[in-house]
Amino acid sequence: MTQRCTVAIVGSGFAGSLLARVLAVLGHDVVLLERGAHPRFAIGESTTPLANLSMERLASRYGLTDCYQLAAHGRWLEHFPQLRRGLKRGFTFYRHHPGQPFANRGFDSERLLVAASPTDAVADMHWLRADVDHHFVREAVAAGVEFRDRVELTGAVIDGSGVRLTGQRDGAALDLRVQILIDASGPGGFLARQLSIPSGLRRTKTRSALVFSHFSGVAPMADVVPGLPAGPYPDDWAAVHHLIDGGWMYALRFDHGVTSAGFALSPRGLADVSASATPDPEVLWRRLLHRYPTIGAAFGEATPLMPLAFRPRIQHRLTRAAGKRWALLPHAYAVVDPLFSTGIAWSLRAIERLALAFEGGPPDAKALDRYARQLRVEADQIDRLVAGAYEAMAHFDLFAAHAMIYFTTVSFAEIHQRLVRRDSETAAWSGFLGVGDALLEPLPRESHRRLRTITRGRGRPGTVGQRRAFAAWAAAAIAPRNVGGFADPAAHHLYPVDLDILVDRHALLGLSREELLGGLPALRGVAPVSAA
Ligand SMILES: Cc1cc2nc3c(=O)[nH]c(=O)nc-3n(C[C@H](O)[C@H](O)[C@H](O)COP(=O)(O)OP(=O)(O)OC[C@H]3O[C@@H](n4cnc5c(N)ncnc54)[C@H](O)[C@@H]3O)c2cc1C
Repeated sequence: MTQRCTVAIVGSGFAGSLLARVLAVLGHDVVLLERGAHPRFAIGESTTPLANLSMERLASRYGLTDCYQLAAHGRWLEHFPQLRRGLKRGFTFYRHHPGQPFANRGFDSERLLVAASPTDAVADMHWLRADVDHHFVREAVAAGVEFRDRVELTGAVIDGSGVRLTGQRDGAALDLRVQILIDASGPGGFLARQLSIPSGLRRTKTRSALVFSHFSGVAPMADVVPGLPAGPYPDDWAAVHHLIDGGWMYALRFDHGVTSAGFALSPRGLADVSASATPDPEVLWRRLLHRYPTIGAAFGEATPLMPLAFRPRIQHRLTRAAGKRWALLPHAYAVVDPLFSTGIAWSLRAIERLALAFEGGPPDAKALDRYARQLRVEADQIDRLVAGAYEAMAHFDLFAAHAMIYFTTVSFAEIHQRLVRRDSETAAWSGFLGVGDALLEPLPRESHRRLRTITRGRGRPGTVGQRRAFAAWAAAAIAPRNVGGFADPAAHHLYPVDLDILVDRHALLGLSREELLGGLPALRGVAPVSAA
């Protein structure tokens, strides 16, 4: 069959489906093409306040009520209880050491908790992607998107008049003519192969392998390390990060008792536990649980709900994110590492940008070039932040100090977008992770440089003096944007959402005390973001 459309989107993860739907709402003729079929498993589950802000802006600008309802845990439960998700109150970190149980040293424990929301009702979520992605596909279809699953695409040719896509479905030939093609197929890279887009992986410093699955029966940390001082939220209702030598483990607890978990290991971290670069995932998993007894206790009785999987390298990067008549969504362009949960928020920001670019008709080469340039600097920025965090894992004090750069950057962005520059255009095009902010943008690079000097690039923890000097540098560097009260020794690494500190620091946002007080309902999730 031959068909003409304005836009074809390849890949129906949440990102492809949501963009397809917005473009259909804008009046474009959209076809969404999927290799598999929904519901299907996917990782990449933990959202953040910036992700939810994007969801709210998309909701109000394009009339997508469900996106507003799915942007806070309380609203989600009220409107979509059937879509499975997990409560995420913040970011929890523990440092574990080989052969030793996690030490409860009270407030001196190697434990960092940063709340992302003041209450469960307005909290972030982990998305059970099988349910959420399926929901977005159904909504796209309801908005008029033509969806075809089980499609095998074999060709994409771009010429002066448009893009020709060829392939097959159920044995029948498929021949599509579109004006513009969006690749949302993830790191599988449909368009990268078709257009021979060169790899840009050399730009990415982070390197990690991954072993992962979904599990039932994971014990909460509170059960395996009883008596830890209370934090700003229950430790486990968060994106839990277990830092180990040369890597870390994520554990994301869903409300229905399933936990998504995986170890990301640097090449050195993998070599510490495996002689093989492609180990048997079961053996690797058991070895890691044995090496870190408290993680072993938490996962000792857990059952994998699907076979453990191993990926020798999760990083992916291309040299360009857009060209004439084509664009890649972030996950198809660059993958760094799940540390700090940047993927969903970044994808949603890119969806906002492309949606804006399509508002007056298919975007021209200039608009696509702007999109590509922005993604390029942002991918580098994510990588610098994560590469620095891997260096910092050498010692908990270094890690906690480096993490303050991330938390300051995202909390400043969130509050700025909620209270100061609320219009969609400005918020969508504001740089991710401090890009474009003269004070914040240089920090991940500088932090990484300083950390490498301390660790000598070999995981050395440095001296007490070096670590103190690094923490002092980080605290001073973030001070002009530190609206969250981070890097405060009196906090003992336990950071609630502190609105008093925010009000006191109103001037950092360029607001008067009264202006900030007037904006507090928006921060508490009482008032939605504007549709402007
Ligand atoms: C280990 C890991 C953990 C992560 N954890 C987090 C996290 O906690 N928080 C976070 O914010 N981000 C996380 N991310 C990032 C997150 O996974 C991505 O941001 C997110 O999955 C992007 O969604 P997407 O819809 O763009 O792509 P995907 O979810 O990858 O969907 C792509 C779709 O395209 C389809 N497809 C592929 N090839 C073709 C083809 N040739 N033709 C047609 N269809 C095709 C696939 O079947 C799939 O349905 C993580 C990433 C990794 C690697």
